[in-house]
Amino acid sequence: MTITSDIGLYIHVPFCIRKCRYCRFLSFTCSENKLLAEYADALIREIRIRYGEWPYRKIDSIYIGGGTPSIMPAEDMGRVVKEIKDNFFVSHDCEITIEANPATITEDKLKTYLDCGINRISIGVQSFDNAILNFLGRVHDKNDAISAVRLAKKTGFDNVNIDLMFGIPGQTMKMWRDSIRQCLFLRPEHISLYSLQIEEGTPFYDMIYVDKVLSEVSENVDRDMFSQALMMMDDAGYHHYEISNASLPGFESRHNLKYWSYNDYLGLGPGASSFIGGQRFKNCESVSEYLKFIKSGMPPVKPEKVETYSEREEMGIFVFTGLRKTEGFSINDFENTFKKDFFDVYDPSILEKYKGFIEIDGLNLKLTEKGLDVSNKIMAEFV
Ligand code: SF4
Repeated sequence: MTITSDIGLYIHVPFCIRKCRYCRFLSFTCSENKLLAEYADALIREIRIRYGEWPYRKIDSIYIGGGTPSIMPAEDMGRVVKEIKDNFFVSHDCEITIEANPATITEDKLKTYLDCGINRISIGVQSFDNAILNFLGRVHDKNDAISAVRLAKKTGFDNVNIDLMFGIPGQTMKMWRDSIRQCLFLRPEHISLYSLQIEEGTPFYDMIYVDKVLSEVSENVDRDMFSQALMMMDDAGYHHYEISNASLPGFESRHNLKYWSYNDYLGLGPGASSFIGGQRFKNCESVSEYLKFIKSGMPPVKPEKVETYSEREEMGIFVFTGLRKTEGFSINDFENTFKKDFFDVYDPSILEKYKGFIEIDGLNLKLTEKGLDVSNKIMAEFV
């Protein structure tokens, strides 16, 4: 059997203790260990089913996201990771990340994670301000967050990510700066920054657009907060390598880089997306439907969830995701992937139109610092 290029594996755990007020992710409230163990059994069955489809691919990154994967009893998570290793060809240096909510972390859980091979933990802190955490509807407070990061490091995790959120109504610049300062003091290897998005179907959306008891943060304040964070992280030695992500040298997220570098990934669990062998598809979102598919031994993908994009659309995805990286993407890679000259596809005048915002650096096309600030507008030109 020939093993072809490396792929990433994503595992979705769609359960949380409570729904945060801003959340539109596919997640449901559940903390019953029996149900979570049953869900682990279903994932194990899906791993066996999907292995049959892709037996020849080597996995060099696994990302267990959610939802709140750390809600699952650690032994069940251990069974899932073991099953992946028993079925797929997992590289010896595979990056294995688990997302965790500070309220669910215990020393025993962290030890079990390390024992089964999980070597990176992404902690959903969002803020070190109790008023903000409470407003967001998070189930943890500032002290839980600090203890969780310290405990992860003490237990042996040497690759820790902290998620932080800005652009939150009521969040002052001082609160934001204090949160970044606290984060830098804990010295995680990786930091992800998210601007709060107000999504339809969430309590925040209703508060802002239906009941009008809250106002969205202005674009200017949002951008100022982002720039402030970049400056402070830069001073502390973090490398801003992707629009929303910075790391200490050598700790860039291997898994996320796959999404931004047009690499293949396979997603397991309800709602998980895959891009593999040139095909894009998505698992069904309903947990009960997912369980039915799995019980019958079928991949949980409905025919309408196999997505076909035109070549031009795929090119747009390549450019759009590639420009998220601060180093941009290699024009050679684009041309090798699509067997077309980049400037036959895209009008070279775009470089002039966005002079100062986009540039060619060596063989790469990238956004400048100014361009990263208005990235959505520029990226839209390519899709
Ligand atoms: S913990 Fe994450 S996935 Fe769960 S409700 Fe909150 S934002 Fe959504």
